[in-house]
Amino acid sequence: MSIEIHKVEKSRIDEVDFDNLVFGHTFSDHMFQMEYRNNKWNPPAIIPFGKIEVYPSLSSLHYGQSIFEGLKAFRSADGSVNIFRLDKHIARMENSCKRMCIPTLDSEMFKEAVTTLVGLDRQWIPQARGSSLYIRPFIFASENYIGVRVSEKYDFYILTGPVSTYFKEGLSPVKLMTSEGYVRAVRGGLGEAKTAANYAASLLPAMEAQRRGFSQVLWLDALEGKYIDEVGTMNIAFFKDDVLITPPLEGTILPGVTRDSVIQIAKKKGIKVEERRISIDEVMESVKDGSMTEIFGTGTAAVISPVGEVYHNGESVTVNNFKTGPIAKMFYDEITGIQYGEKEDTFGWITKIQ
Ligand SMILES: *Cc1c(COP(=O)(O)O)cnc(C)c1O
Repeated sequence: MSIEIHKVEKSRIDEVDFDNLVFGHTFSDHMFQMEYRNNKWNPPAIIPFGKIEVYPSLSSLHYGQSIFEGLKAFRSADGSVNIFRLDKHIARMENSCKRMCIPTLDSEMFKEAVTTLVGLDRQWIPQARGSSLYIRPFIFASENYIGVRVSEKYDFYILTGPVSTYFKEGLSPVKLMTSEGYVRAVRGGLGEAKTAANYAASLLPAMEAQRRGFSQVLWLDALEGKYIDEVGTMNIAFFKDDVLITPPLEGTILPGVTRDSVIQIAKKKGIKVEERRISIDEVMESVKDGSMTEIFGTGTAAVISPVGEVYHNGESVTVNNFKTGPIAKMFYDEITGIQYGEKEDTFGWITKIQ
């Protein structure tokens, strides 16, 4: 499938302060666009980034039938551009489509869309280590109809934009508090789809946590409030008695690509991995008795985010003296090493644009 390309007359890149990038604010010159009409995806185009016109009756504004992805492209040591785990993100978007009754995309076309768009705006990929080009594909229901039913029209866009490190703390520990009185997802719900609704549910609890000095909410399972699910925008992993423990994919958590990368690296390094339920009581106890030495979040935005403190039920525990531990550091170095082309891509995770 050929993509029609309409280039900008003049790039906006000179207006961008690459030393002070704020996550999610800056977008590259072009965006990808494709419409689903009359039961099929129409021919795609790459056009200048800009406004889109919609009616206030746009169905996704009312009922949230929308999905997204988040992945990154990096400037590689050899001068090429590396896109990290493109196939895995495409596969997850397909699963999100299915859960949200959105027509799936042809994966080859999707791949070509991302590589063409990133190639076209490659000068937007920042140079500095830790910086990258964030890629945001998303699809929303675009029928002008406010009855509740599956939409017959969809719009698919891909935006890209330069980002530096996600948390202002960088690779330094964050404080988490468990969800009190709120739930994020239940089995059979939307928790494993990358859809807007999951974030809508998390905003109020996250705001309250931040007001109390915590960086994000540590979600417990919705039924018993006992087992760890994930963090607001990240999956979570624990290092206890030399074993890497992470909650299993049972429908309530997002199947993170970074989570999967950490598991694969751990196995290759001979670290024992357990995908199992882990209770908040076990976490609090084993941090206190010293057997759990590290906790960290995993996600595309921050890669690895060490957890320095967990607050639950009126009690706080400090993890690894509020320092980044060697295991978190090792995963960060391995993943970013592959992303920036400094370490060999033995897993086949990189899509290269020459
Ligand atoms: C995207 C996301 C993650 C992290 O997934 P990655 O593929 O590693 O970026 C974790 N939790 C939620 C809720 C997410 O939306």
